[in-house]
Amino acid sequence: MTYVIALPCVDVKDKACIDECPVDCIYEGERSLYIHPDECVDCGACEPVCPVEAIFYEDDLPDEWQDYYKANVEFFDEIGSPGGAAKTGMLPFDHPLISVLPPQEAHA
Ligand code: SF4
Ligand code: SF4
Repeated sequence: MTYVIALPCVDVKDKACIDECPVDCIYEGERSLYIHPDECVDCGACEPVCPVEAIFYEDDLPDEWQDYYKANVEFFDEIGSPGGAAKTGMLPFDHPLISVLPPQEAHA
């Protein structure tokens, strides 16, 4: 099990969650953040601090955002398990599900 970041984070990225994560498993892409499914320890610390309620426990993802589980998993297909977001810095890509979205500022 893991926590998942869904649509509300896209183009917001205020990064409040990063400061709370004890294992540094929240990675930054160009337009969204992503939780590493294998590195997340399910502590739940990130979920209440997100100002736009983008973070959900896997089982609690709203139906319309079920695809974001796959997006958070597949984001790491190329880079595997780096063992900490501080090592990678911002990654210059997004999952295709996020890349194709129109700008989200109007919904922030
Ligand atoms: S706190 Fe929420 S909006 Fe901010 S970066 Fe984390 S998931 Fe995205
Ligand atoms: S649930 Fe805990 S370990 Fe997982 S991303 Fe959130 S703060 Fe990090």
